[in-house]
Amino acid sequence: REDVFQLERHNPSLTLCGTAICVGANAEFIEEMKIVQDSGAEEVGLFRTEFLHLENPDATEDELATAYSRVVESQSPKRVVFRTLDLGGDKVDERLALEPEPNPFLGWRGIRLSLGRLDLFKRQLRALLRAAAFGRVGIMFPMVSSVQEVLEAKAVLKTCEDELKAEGIDIPEGIEVGAMIEIPSAALSADLIAAEVDFLSLGTNDLIQYTIAVDRLNDRVAKLYQPTHPAVLRLIGMSVQAARSAGIRVGMCGEMASDLTLTPLMIGLGLNELSVATTQIARVKHAVRRLSVADCEALAQSVQKSTCPAEIRKLSRAVADRCY
Ligand code: PEP
Ligand code: MG
Repeated sequence: REDVFQLERHNPSLTLCGTAICVGANAEFIEEMKIVQDSGAEEVGLFRTEFLHLENPDATEDELATAYSRVVESQSPKRVVFRTLDLGGDKVDERLALEPEPNPFLGWRGIRLSLGRLDLFKRQLRALLRAAAFGRVGIMFPMVSSVQEVLEAKAVLKTCEDELKAEGIDIPEGIEVGAMIEIPSAALSADLIAAEVDFLSLGTNDLIQYTIAVDRLNDRVAKLYQPTHPAVLRLIGMSVQAARSAGIRVGMCGEMASDLTLTPLMIGLGLNELSVATTQIARVKHAVRRLSVADCEALAQSVQKSTCPAEIRKLSRAVADRCY
C-alpha cells in the first residue's frame, strides 16, 4: 500500500467531490528542499526560519537573502510560507535573552521578540522581500496574541518595502501576509485578525499547549495534551469560520495536520490547507482523495455532541478506516 501512496504522490489532492485541499510541507533547512520537491508537496506551508538563524545568528541581510532565495527558487512556482523568527520558548538563542525568564513559553518569544528587536526583524523582513523576486513568497507572523501585534508587524514590513524601493530594489506585488493562530486569544479574535491578513495558519502544537495549559514538552502531563479536546476543536472551528467570512485562506501547520486519523475531522472543520511533515505528504494526499467533504462535515457536526477527546478521535478514525 505504501507503494501506491508513493506512486500517486504528485497527483493533485482533490477530495472525492473535487474540493482541493492543498497539502504542503513543513521544512526548516535548505538541504531539505530537494526532498520537499520530490515528496509531492503542493507548497511549503511552514518554513521555520529559527533554524537557519541558530545555524548562523550573525548572518547579514545579504546572506539571509541568498539563503531564502535558494529556498524560494527551489520550489518556484509553488508558494513558500516563511514564518518570521519564532525564537524563545523551546527555540532559544541564548545570546538574545537578557536574563532567564521564569516562564519562557509565556515570555519574550515569537512576534514579541521580533517587535522588540527591530534590527533583527527588519533584517529578516528585508531579506524575505528580496527573496520574493525568485518565486512565490508568503510571510507569516508567529505567536500573535492580538490584532495590534499584526498591525505593528505589518507596519514594519511596509517600512522595509518602502526602504527597499527607495534603494532601487524591486519588490514584487502580491506577497501574502499571514498570522499564525496558536494562542487562544488569537483564535478568539480571529475575525479581527482575519480582516488584516491574507491567510491564517493554525499552529496546533502551541494552540493545544496554551488552551489546555499543558506544557508540550513535559512528559508528566503528556496525557492531558489532547488535540481532540472539545475546547481546541472549538477554537479551530472559530478560526476557520472567521477566515471564511473574511474570504481568506486558512490552513493548519501543527502536527495535528499530519495525523491521518484526524484528516476527516480537519476537512470537516473547513480547513483547505494542511501543512505536514514531508514523510506524511503522500499519505495525507492519499487520504484526502478518498474523502468527501459532505461526510467530513457530517463528522464535524456529530463530534459537537461529544464531550470526550478519545471518543471524538474514535469517530474520526471510523471515517478514516472506512475510506482509506
Ligand atoms: C505550532 O505551534 O503548531 C507550530 C507549527 O509551530 P512550532 O511547532 O514551531 O511552535
Ligand atoms: Mg508554534
